[in-house]
Amino acid sequence: MSPRLAGSHHAVAIVGGGQAGLSMSYHLRERGIDHVVVEAHRVGHEWRERRWDSFCLVTPNWQCRLPGFPYAGDDPDGFMVREEIVRHLEEYVAFLRPPLVAGVRVTGLRKGAGGTFELATSAGDFTADQVVVATGPYHAPAVPRMAERLPVGVEQLHSSRYRNADRLPAGGVLVVGTGQSGCQIAEDLHLAGRRVHLAVGGAPRVARFYRGRDCVAWLDAMGHYARGIDAFDDASAVRMRVNHYVTGRDGGRDIDLRAFAREGMRLYGRLTGIEGGGLEFADDLEANLDRADAVADGIKDAIDAYIAREGIDAPREARYVPVWRPDAPPRALDLADEGITSVIWCTGFTRDHRWIGIPVFDGRGYPMHRRGVTSCPGLSFLGLPWQYAWGSGRFEGVGRDAAFLARHIDASRRLADVCGALTGAPTELTAALPLG
Ligand SMILES: Cc1cc2nc3c(=O)[nH]c(=O)nc-3n(C[C@H](O)[C@H](O)[C@H](O)COP(=O)(O)OP(=O)(O)OC[C@H]3O[C@@H](n4cnc5c(N)ncnc54)[C@H](O)[C@@H]3O)c2cc1C
Repeated sequence: MSPRLAGSHHAVAIVGGGQAGLSMSYHLRERGIDHVVVEAHRVGHEWRERRWDSFCLVTPNWQCRLPGFPYAGDDPDGFMVREEIVRHLEEYVAFLRPPLVAGVRVTGLRKGAGGTFELATSAGDFTADQVVVATGPYHAPAVPRMAERLPVGVEQLHSSRYRNADRLPAGGVLVVGTGQSGCQIAEDLHLAGRRVHLAVGGAPRVARFYRGRDCVAWLDAMGHYARGIDAFDDASAVRMRVNHYVTGRDGGRDIDLRAFAREGMRLYGRLTGIEGGGLEFADDLEANLDRADAVADGIKDAIDAYIAREGIDAPREARYVPVWRPDAPPRALDLADEGITSVIWCTGFTRDHRWIGIPVFDGRGYPMHRRGVTSCPGLSFLGLPWQYAWGSGRFEGVGRDAAFLARHIDASRRLADVCGALTGAPTELTAALPLG
């Protein structure tokens, strides 16, 4: 049964019931700390409602290691499809039985007199000593304002609303952006026989397999995923990096845009402008393709060096040779001439933390934190990309960050108790004490 929310008080309120919120609940329960998880929709909402039909993970299943619930299926090297991911989360809920209130949105958060957090929700107000914001990294679709200049008859949608080729009007499709979503949606449409036009951006790529193993497995063995953000000089740039494109579809393979082009997909540089039914592109297609390949090659160099250093017996593998090169790619395109009837904006997401009325954000609206702990005592974030390491915003590392936060929350509570009893010091001060 769901806990009662309105008028209640909890030691910890977790906002968001995705993999991050559930991981947090696991670790708080392990420590016997009272808490509630408030979820605006239902568990798995993001995967159910904002991913396309053929969606699958790009990270192998063995990396799904939610706390207390490692992947136990029969395909650890495979890539769960959308329905399997949702089922995995549902099974986690059945295993965890968290104190979950679903279908309730937290609409406001502020610190009241005495340092208690006051949460306004669609089901009434409640309070908490500490709050963990686990509302995910991807809130509102980021669509450039030039979208407003597309002709009225052209259907346009953000990647989070794309489902499959059949739901689009007949005709050609322009996909804008080549991050994970853009590349996979372009491939989905291409495989469905659509004439695809793709505006290629600066995202890097990674090979799926190299020298007998998934590159993710190599990078894991090399300690790449354990590397904390503090090891980087440019931490904030690392946090904003675009993901490498690759796919887990059909057991996993590279995404090679050059191969798509050879098969008839039309590639362009970055989309820079829209004028009537005409589109303009930057002259950067070749550079973008070359840069993506260079990154993939650099990762292979690092794997080679690791194999040599460790004396690992791994099969040799020839390096990738570009299968297509752009020959004076068009800088302009007329939608009507090309029969393009829809445009899919695969241009990412923005954060929306406007409901949080506590000044913990930087100039870009990014929460300032150290491993999720903010300067506001008792307020933490979980599930941010690169919050601590590569896997922080993914299945791989969210459990580790949740364990860290649970330790911090527990220590804050104990310090508050001890200091409060000995000195009468307010909870706020003790919660801010550094952890060992
Ligand atoms: C296209 C795409 C592909 C991805 N592929 C992979 C992959 O292959 N492997 C991988 O490990 N990760 C992948 N990720 C990253 C990551 O695993 C997902 O983004 C995941 O959904 C993050 O989990 P979360 O719990 O942090 O956030 P979410 O899943 O977004 O959950 C947050 C929850 O908070 C709720 N919520 C939001 N605001 C409020 C509020 N105010 N009040 C109450 N509830 C609220 C939402 O309803 C939501 O259910 C991918 C992400 C995207 C976008």
